[in-house]
Amino acid sequence: MLFCKKEENCLIFMGLACLCKQYILQSRSEKGRQMRKLLIAGNWKMNGTQDSVSSLLGGLIEKCTSTDVDWLVCHSFLYLAEARAALKGTVVALGAQNVCDQESGAFTGEVSPNMLKEAGCTHVIVGHSERRHVYKESNELVSARFFSALDHALVPILCVGETLDQREADQTLDIVFAQIDAVLKVLPAGDVREWVLAYEPVWAIGTGKTATPEQAQQVHDAIRKKLQEHDAQMAESVRILYGGSVKPSNATELFAMADIDGALVGGASLSSDDFSDLAR
Ligand code: PEP
Repeated sequence: MLFCKKEENCLIFMGLACLCKQYILQSRSEKGRQMRKLLIAGNWKMNGTQDSVSSLLGGLIEKCTSTDVDWLVCHSFLYLAEARAALKGTVVALGAQNVCDQESGAFTGEVSPNMLKEAGCTHVIVGHSERRHVYKESNELVSARFFSALDHALVPILCVGETLDQREADQTLDIVFAQIDAVLKVLPAGDVREWVLAYEPVWAIGTGKTATPEQAQQVHDAIRKKLQEHDAQMAESVRILYGGSVKPSNATELFAMADIDGALVGGASLSSDDFSDLAR
């Protein structure tokens, strides 16, 4: 196709502007990415026996040794003491799967943040989809659990995600943003305490269906922008994990995305080979 000189200049200018924008976006996300070490977190859920937990811990100690990533395993409350002893001196951190929003008292069945700290936990999952959907935990209760952890120097991992119906009704971001807003409306801008976000589409958890890297990145990017509106520094430092049937065969592509800073892993964390292979 032939262009006159003016159109040609205009096209060159537009091309250059496009390249500049791409360069700025790329270097910004690369800078952020350098700040954010990959976190590979296992969620063992309510699985295992005394024996299987011991042998799984043995495998982790042997294989999860890379210091290029951060490792974390979130155990059942019952096995925390054993896990703490086994993981001592390794690079694998210890977490729990929920925490009470209260400090102590008549809250049968709950575990307080101080109890988790005493048991050696540094991290705790809050708002996992199984808590939200099976046990009907509301955004407000999840937010209260989040601050209970944060205020006791535990790192909360806030899980968010939409169901299949919500995705098909084009409500993904509305749902995810409402779950995040319940926390952000209480968390002041400028708060530098560490916390982690995990985007876990409910339809991808334990189903073998993974969001494509592009689908996941789209939501992670939107979440990062939302955090940016709240506090630019926070947006650069908060790690946003992806969760939903992550395994060694799909981890590389997911981790290559600019805003995916690691994974929250259920099924594949129950095999020390699969879990350690996620870091390859
Ligand atoms: C999870 O439990 O958070 C999870 C993502 O599970 P899975 O990896 O089995 O889908």
